[in-house]
Amino acid sequence: MAPPGNDKNQLFLGLFIHSVKLGELQYLHDTAVCVDKSGKIIAVEKQCDQKKAEVTLYPKLGWKVDDVTVTIAKDGQFFFPGFIDTHIHAPQYPNVGIFGKSTLLDWLNTYTFPMEASLSSLPKARRVYTRCIQRTIAHGTTTAAYYATIHVPSTNLLADLCLSLGQRAFVGRVCMDNLGPKYYLDESPSKSLAATRATIDHIRSIDADFDLISPILTPRFAPSCSVDAMTQLGALHQETGLPIQTHIAENVDELKLVRDMFPDSKNYADVYDRFGLLGKRTILAHAIYLSEEEADLVAHRGSKVSHCPCSNSALTSGVAPVRWLLDKGIGVGLGTDVSGGYSPSVLDAARQAALVSNHLAMPPRTGKKQIDSSADTEANTSFKDDRELVRLSVEEALHLATRGGAEVVGLGEKIGGFEVGKEWDAQLIGLGLVPEEDDSTELKQDDQDQDQDTGNVDIFGWERWEDRVAKWVFNGDDRNVKKVWVRGRLVHERR
Ligand SMILES: [Zn+2]
Repeated sequence: MAPPGNDKNQLFLGLFIHSVKLGELQYLHDTAVCVDKSGKIIAVEKQCDQKKAEVTLYPKLGWKVDDVTVTIAKDGQFFFPGFIDTHIHAPQYPNVGIFGKSTLLDWLNTYTFPMEASLSSLPKARRVYTRCIQRTIAHGTTTAAYYATIHVPSTNLLADLCLSLGQRAFVGRVCMDNLGPKYYLDESPSKSLAATRATIDHIRSIDADFDLISPILTPRFAPSCSVDAMTQLGALHQETGLPIQTHIAENVDELKLVRDMFPDSKNYADVYDRFGLLGKRTILAHAIYLSEEEADLVAHRGSKVSHCPCSNSALTSGVAPVRWLLDKGIGVGLGTDVSGGYSPSVLDAARQAALVSNHLAMPPRTGKKQIDSSADTEANTSFKDDRELVRLSVEEALHLATRGGAEVVGLGEKIGGFEVGKEWDAQLIGLGLVPEEDDSTELKQDDQDQDQDTGNVDIFGWERWEDRVAKWVFNGDDRNVKKVWVRGRLVHERR
């Protein structure tokens, strides 16, 4: 079986915005993008309207007018690549916003494990997963790297639902056979591995080539897995080449736990490396407290990092040094980390990534390292310069949300931008246009429909497009996501 294709070829017209490299958005005005029935972009033509496309592009592509669906980005709208959530726990979705003053390890025991354990119930899992997928799609997430639970049937159900609702996904059955509550643990390493194999087989039965849905090996985090389980997972990765996702260096108590549990390992990254779990297809969530040596190892192995700023702030975990990771050559994407993170929106994650990076640039106010930044010494000037470098711009945050995320999940060739050969995973973004004074009292019905649903982003018309995008990043939400496509299939429409 394979995911369904589309009945018609598709022509998209208007403004396309995408990241071409870290820190650089490209604005393609008055452009035509042609997408074939398999969902692939087969032509991108600048300075092209519908008429010109019909006359010049269609014959070249062998297209007939009545075999093409046309979608036009209207004034104030633009196409943007779909967001890629590189780290999200679907079963924790009902808990978004519920974390109190807890930090990682007590949060797991208080909120997370009881909720995950309860999703052994298939009706409950169906309800939670359906809403989680629908909600993230509505926020423009076209690809998600999901952690499910330890249960095979409900993990399989998550894969089924992603396929039917049309979201591209990596679905991981969580392996945990070591540390965890008695009521929520794999019974043994061999049962853990057998359960993971069962979910892989299931996903192969619904999407043979993993075109839309792929399994992903998911050791929850080092302390939750036995040495035996991690050894077998490493072997399974070697055998199948499947991607891996896990957590690393999120919280200081967790670091101590790892040191105590793995005294023979040099450091946290080395624990995964010893079991063959640190490779090109490994997604490491958080990576807040990596040492220089660990970051060099991660870079050397080609493993990637999922930056989860919302969760890192909510659980008081720490501030990840994203610029430092990028400068090491490590690929970085964004994760919502629902429900350590309270928001299912990757746009929110981009916003938080920018704001949190500013925190690294501010003088510390507590602790021993307080800096007198007002003193005009050479050391302080260079420190201030260094601090300035850590800040992430809107363009950089959006890169991590799209093209950067695509590389993190190993789909850099397929998604993340609007080049020919990529698949059409995209969203149509609509911003609110504030009517001219003359029009404001008597709006046409059409405009009213459009204006009522544009959320908090008010565009007056004099803003440069760069500024409009910044206004969207800081004030936008799902009300701005008008349509969403995955592999050319329309999977969400806001009416
Ligand atoms: Zn997580």
